[in-house]
Parts: sequence; structure tokens; C-alpha cells
Amino acid sequence: MLGPFLPRYSTAGRTPRSPAILRHGHAQPAEAGEPERCYAFRMDMSLPTPASLSTAQARPVSARGSRPCGLYDLSLSELEARVVELGVPAYRGRQIWTWTYRQLAADYSVMTNIPATLRDALATEAPVQLLDPVRTVATDDAETIKTLYRTADDQVLETVLMLYPNRATVCVSCQVGCAVGCAFCATGLMGLARNLGAGEMVAQVVGAVREARLRGRELTNIVMMGMGEPLQNYAATMKFISIVHDPTGLDIGARRITVSTSGIVPKIDALAEEPLQLNLAVSLHAPTDDLRSQLVPINRRYPIATLMASVDRYIAKTGRRVSFEYALMRGINDGEEIAHQLTALLRGRLCHVNIIPLNPVDVLPYERPDPDGIERFASILRCAGIPTTVRYSRGLDIDAACGQLRAKELGLPAPTRASQRKVPGRRQQLDTAAT
Ligand code: SAH
Ligand code: SF4
Repeated sequence: MLGPFLPRYSTAGRTPRSPAILRHGHAQPAEAGEPERCYAFRMDMSLPTPASLSTAQARPVSARGSRPCGLYDLSLSELEARVVELGVPAYRGRQIWTWTYRQLAADYSVMTNIPATLRDALATEAPVQLLDPVRTVATDDAETIKTLYRTADDQVLETVLMLYPNRATVCVSCQVGCAVGCAFCATGLMGLARNLGAGEMVAQVVGAVREARLRGRELTNIVMMGMGEPLQNYAATMKFISIVHDPTGLDIGARRITVSTSGIVPKIDALAEEPLQLNLAVSLHAPTDDLRSQLVPINRRYPIATLMASVDRYIAKTGRRVSFEYALMRGINDGEEIAHQLTALLRGRLCHVNIIPLNPVDVLPYERPDPDGIERFASILRCAGIPTTVRYSRGLDIDAACGQLRAKELGLPAPTRASQRKVPGRRQQLDTAAT
């Protein structure tokens, strides 16, 4: 059973937002090395919707469903092995790799130093592009660029590129939808359609590198904070990371890659054993099991004590500071007592807290606290010695949570679990959150 105050589809008390305005607020620059927010702005929904998208939501495939293997699915050694199987020397694989990740070749036809027979063979069995960009929209100042992609099987996902003065970060989706179903998250509304393959994640990064270069920039950072739970698509996520990390290709340093998780404990343990020194962000959002279980349902399976024990093992093993994400919701998890409970939970740990003032989702009743409330909460943590950043997204007062662009493109939300949930009034939310 889900908690009693998880009204996910109520619009009670909410004024529908104007759908035709793309607003953006003033970015607060993120500090170096810290995870960045990618649910940063909303699309102008007055733009025409591609006809093909209207069918996409009706065609989910199994999370284990087979997908075509593309060039982006192959590691360098796999590519070398493949060309050897095709009867040519391994160095041809390295040449193709360089074309793909250094020159960003979008098609085998431009790889002019590769024999035509090899190009033709690979174009059939490992095509370069797996994702079609359906729509790309930038904020007015072009600092944030959001792309909606369609996969080969008509699934739709989104990727966000964020340009900062000192770095360029892409926020990558790892699943279409998400099975975790956090109460405040637009992606969670969709349920899980399927996992993305490593190549589909690589394709998002390649697209972001292209977008960045069009603006005279180089991509520097990757955050796994788009649609989906990366640790529930672990193998593909790790393969993706190894491909984009390869120094002979895109060469994104491990310390510039952040994996964000709702707290899949066995996989946090697995991550600690990985050779790459990745950044780990844990989406905490509440300091007590009662509250967290209602906001982040996976907490019932991996409660806070279990989660913290795995975080401690991760820190002990890697020596790396862990970030805790905390989406601040008015009257839900922003009380002073809750802030003190949070400090008690985190004190003494090698960690950092990123407070994310909630990006409200139209069909969900959760709200962003006012600036004073946000600062009050943050200062309690800071006074207790917990390094804390308030990470305002680039869009203020916008519907911009991850997954929302896709939802709107497809005419969603298509509630998957609404019928199972009670929709209490505001008072009940406050009462419950206060306990
Ligand atoms: N599934 C992973 C990564 C994707 S979500 C995870 O949950 O960590 C990336 C981050 O966005 C998470 O911290 C998530 O809790 C947060 N998030 C989702 N919806 C949000 C919203 N409406 N407002 C603010 N943060 C949100
Ligand atoms: Fe999934 Fe993360 Fe959204 Fe939760 S916040 S539903 S884990 S994508």
C-alpha cells in the first residue's frame, strides 16, 4: 500500500499554467564538481506536435525487449573485434571509433578512409544513429537546450544540455519512464516503458556534444539525472559510462560523471566496486522512513538505515564525497524539525546536500517553498556544519521536472497508479508530513 498523502493526479488548489510560455529565471551557477539540475525549463507547447508521437505512448516494449545494436552500443574493443570478424584488421575499428567520437561522424559515408565494403557491412548491422531528434528547444539565452528524441521503436525520451561559464553538462535519460514512482516526479507518473540501451545513452551524449560545439563549447560533464533510475538499468549504464569515458573517444573523465539514484542499495554497493571514480548522488528528500517511503517508494525496500549503511560503505571504499539531493516541498519536507532531523542523519558523513526547490508538476499537488523558507531550511543545515547548496533550477515558477516535456508532447499524463491513491486535501498533507 502506498502512503495516504500521495495525491499524484490532483490539480486541487493549483492554477493550470499557461502552456504557451517558455520562461526562464536567473540561474544560480552551480559550484564545480557538484551535480547539476536538468529539469530546468519547460517547452513551449504551442509548437506543433509531430504526428508520429501520438502513437508512441501506446507502444511500450518489454524492459528486456531486444533493440537493434548500433555503433554507439559498441566499446572500442568490441568494435575492433567486429571488424576483425568481418575480415579486416583491428586498426580499422580504431579509425571508425575516431570518426565516431572525435569527428562526430553521423554516417559511415563520411568515413572516407574506410573501405566501402566495410562501411556498407557496418551500416547495416551497426548503424550510427539510433535516436531521431524530434524537437530541440533552447531558453532565450540559449544556456539550456532540451532535446526530445524518438528511439527506433518509437519511444520518446528527453535530454538536456546546460551551458555554464566554466563547463557544459548534459543530463542523460537511462530509461523511458521509471518504475520507482516518486510522488513528485513527472517521470514517475509514467511507469517504466523500458530500459534504454547503452547506445541510446551514448547517442544522447553525442547529440549534446554536437549542440555544444555548434555554440563553440565542449561538453565537460554528464549527470544521470534525466528520465529513469540508472541503478535499475545498471549494466547498460556502466557500459555507457565506459564508452563515453574512453580517452580515445569522448574522453569524459569519471569525476565529471554523476550517477544519481533513488537508493538502490545493492547497486550502490556494486558501484563502490567499480574501478571508475564516479560521483554518486543519492536522492534523499526526507530524513525519516515515514516521510521518505511516501515520497520515494523504494524506501520501503531499502529504508534509510540500510541506505545510509550502503552510502557509508561507498564512502569508505572510494573516499569520495556523496551528494544528497533534497527536493524541497512546501509543507511536506521543509519544516524546521525535519531540517534538524536531516542534520542529525547526515552529521559526520563525507557528504554535501543539494537542496532543489521543487519544480512543480501540473498534475501533482506539491509546491515549491518561498525563498525565505528555502533559505531557512538551508541555514539550519549549514549551521550544523553540513555543506549545503541551494540549487535553483534555471527556470523559476515553471513546470519543468524531468519527464514533463515528454509527457506533454505525448498528451500525457497517463496516470498509471492514480486509481490506487487517495487524494487528500492540503491539510492532510501537512498533518502527515509533520509527523
Ligand atoms: N532516478 C534518479 C535520477 C533521475 S531523477 C534519482 O531519482 O535520483 C534526478 C533528480 O531529480 C532526483 O534527485 C529526483 O528526485 C529529482 N526530481 C525529480 N522530479 C523533481 C521535481 N519535480 N522537482 C525537483 N526535483 C525533482
Ligand atoms: Fe524515477 Fe528518479 Fe523520478 Fe524517482 S525521481 S520516479 S527514481 S526518475
